[in-house]
Amino acid sequence: MKIREIHVYAHDLPVANPPFVIASSTVWSLQTTLVRLVAEDGTEGWGETCPVGPTYAEAHAGGARAALAEMAPGLIGADLWPLALHRRMDALLNGHHYAKAALDIAAHDLIGKRLGVRVAELLGGAATERVPSYYSSGVGDPDETARIAADRVAEGYPRLQVKLGGRPVETDIEALRKVWEAVGGSGVRLAADGNRSWNTRDVLRLSRECADIPVVLEQPCDSVEELARVRPQLQHPIYLDEGGVDLNTVITAAGTGLVDGFGMKVTRIGGLQPMRAFRDLCAARRLPHSCDDAWGGDVIAAACLHVGATVRPELNEGVWIAAPYIAEHYDPRAGIRIEGGHITMPTGPGLGVTPDATLFGDPIASF
Ligand SMILES: [Mg+2]
Repeated sequence: MKIREIHVYAHDLPVANPPFVIASSTVWSLQTTLVRLVAEDGTEGWGETCPVGPTYAEAHAGGARAALAEMAPGLIGADLWPLALHRRMDALLNGHHYAKAALDIAAHDLIGKRLGVRVAELLGGAATERVPSYYSSGVGDPDETARIAADRVAEGYPRLQVKLGGRPVETDIEALRKVWEAVGGSGVRLAADGNRSWNTRDVLRLSRECADIPVVLEQPCDSVEELARVRPQLQHPIYLDEGGVDLNTVITAAGTGLVDGFGMKVTRIGGLQPMRAFRDLCAARRLPHSCDDAWGGDVIAAACLHVGATVRPELNEGVWIAAPYIAEHYDPRAGIRIEGGHITMPTGPGLGVTPDATLFGDPIASF
């Protein structure tokens, strides 16, 4: 199976009830980039990549589009099988995993549609048809955050992530306490996501003052060095998210015992092919992890869902998707939706979603 055509689309995704606030960004709308791959026989597949603005990670929409334009001419006529595709992409451009991920996702979708199987089966087989999700509250007023947390637990979410940081740590401690007062005893699993924003002084204080709250600290500090320094003094488990930029850093973090698990983003690590290796590494070390992306529409949501369905249930920290914060679906019928804190797997081949291409207008580039 060879690539015949590559089409790149730019699309503005409005945020529902804006803005969405995390320590590093305030988000009103986001520019997403979609890729439509066409194989020699006319079979099509869709991919997507959508950085949360230019400051969340070393990624931005313009960078994704430039990287795709750099690689695309060299990919026409190239093999579509994911490992071969990654070899070819790596020969054309160093790094830029988040752009390569859009092509990787489109290739998986296309192969699934061509073979009549779902992407979850291409990735080894689904462990469940009802995949757990988790809810992420933006950085907000402590009482309001606690109210949102209680509502989401009542809705059926098995896990909550409270966004913290970017303000005095006393307010973060107050928010975490109020959330726990609201949901403690419900059985919900809790994570506090500092999104790289705390210094070591503040995370040590938060951990000490919240020692009675069973919460995972997700990417509390920016650098691996800071995490290694606070690690022996913390009362809580640590997960790596933004710092897990590729398989190499993940192997080191897992192998040195730096962290107890991961928040992982499909596009950050380069797509579903490296995600599958990441999943298997975590299984070998019994490290829990999520299968998310930072943002994006139905195509990214479906990619996260398919790989999330293949994770061992006891290690599955859920699939976060941006759907609750986005006002539209690309596929009005089979768009990915969260119900009762879980996502039901689509039944169609490939990713199981078929975007309405008229939403995106003309391609910004075709090869
Ligand atoms: Mg995170």
